[in-house]
Amino acid sequence: MTDLSLTNSPIVAAYRSRTPTSAKLFDDALEVFPSGVVHDSRKLDPYPTYVERAEGSRKWDVDGNEYIDYFGGHGSLLLGHAHPTLLAAVEGQIGRGTHPAACHELELRWGQLIKRLIPSAERVRFTASGTEANLMAIRLARAFTGRAKLMRFNNHFHGWQDHVAFGTIHQSGGGDVPGVLQGIIDNVIVADPGDVEAVRETLETGDDIAAVILEPTGASSGRVPLSREFVAMLREVTEARGIVLIFDEVVTGFRISPGGAQALWDISPDLTALAKILAGGLPGGAVCGRADILAHLDFTAAADKGFQKIPHQGTFNANPLSAAAGVAMLEQVAETDACETASARGEQLRQAWNRVFADEGVPWAAYGMASCIYLFTNPDGLEIDPLNFDAAAQPFSLFDKTGAHRAVPLLHLALLANGVDISSKPAALTSAAHTEDDIAGTADAMRAALRMLKDEGAL
Ligand code: PMP
Repeated sequence: MTDLSLTNSPIVAAYRSRTPTSAKLFDDALEVFPSGVVHDSRKLDPYPTYVERAEGSRKWDVDGNEYIDYFGGHGSLLLGHAHPTLLAAVEGQIGRGTHPAACHELELRWGQLIKRLIPSAERVRFTASGTEANLMAIRLARAFTGRAKLMRFNNHFHGWQDHVAFGTIHQSGGGDVPGVLQGIIDNVIVADPGDVEAVRETLETGDDIAAVILEPTGASSGRVPLSREFVAMLREVTEARGIVLIFDEVVTGFRISPGGAQALWDISPDLTALAKILAGGLPGGAVCGRADILAHLDFTAAADKGFQKIPHQGTFNANPLSAAAGVAMLEQVAETDACETASARGEQLRQAWNRVFADEGVPWAAYGMASCIYLFTNPDGLEIDPLNFDAAAQPFSLFDKTGAHRAVPLLHLALLANGVDISSKPAALTSAAHTEDDIAGTADAMRAALRMLKDEGAL
């Protein structure tokens, strides 16, 4: 990887001249955190921006620069930053205490909203994160079936815990992860979602498969798109074979539609992992699904049916602040057009960026579903028409690699220098707080960024 801090790129220079305070903070952070960051996706060369505050579709860094934000709290924001209704809910709760170490009414209302919105949710168990929600879903599936093996798919991301940490480009370039025991790896089948027949055959013939877990719209919630037919095939085969089908709807839940991918596609998984939007921008997760599977967390069911219950603790499960934000958030999802507005802005952004790519003669394309936008940066220089790019019709191999155009790190900096923040995939998430003016401004920023890239020969 090129070390951007060592180049004399004018884009890096422009970025540096706008962000001296971030540079200084990052120098100090290197003495505290490995690589100076607390989350791998926030690593940015030559250094990340430090954000001071955020509101609506905007955030401001410590040097006073304003950004239209498409990182979207790693996907946890559907209403933008500091939405007044969510703020009021959290402020109303904080004075009443942050941890009663007791059952409380908000957890009940939060769980009831999940049951109302997510079609397959018969029972709910809260966790503190999406990683934990998936961990519990996998454990429930193994306990319920008495089988050992987990099938999951190349590059589908389910958090950083041991059973799902390897074989995804997010964490390891697709290889092993140091510290994950071979015994765990031996019980996980990492399948290629592009090879439909091999997947079907493994599920039809494997006799020790407890569960299949997937991101139902494809890796990174659609960066590598999956067809509904593929997911329907998984449902059919897993049902026939008594295998637990787990949808990881940590990103797609409440975003792709109010009821997630399962509502949009009318396919019912056995278990669903939720997080992010679930807790309205605060920490929180949940596993929900079939009552007979979640019964493995139930004292009475275990005693009555003579099985050993799965123990489950978690100091911050459904903590009152997250529950307050979560209830307010899910009420907005259920009762307003927040999801629809965020999706409409997503479609507008895809179209606006694609017009810019076409105008500028750059063979890239923006694609995705609903409020999830991905950039295909075409590292192999294929001939494509940005205005007619159908990601679903492309071979998986086109997306299923770490490869993005070598200019992508510079693109990110050039967009920041033009007042727009995206995530490093490169991807953008829209929210209901983004306006049509934001979209127009973001198209202008992309045009300016591409011209900066061309000027320095990076494109
Ligand atoms: N599943 C998916 C699909 C995710 O995108 C993420 C987070 N990016 C996780 C699970 C893990 O969630 P958390 O970061 O809350 O542990």
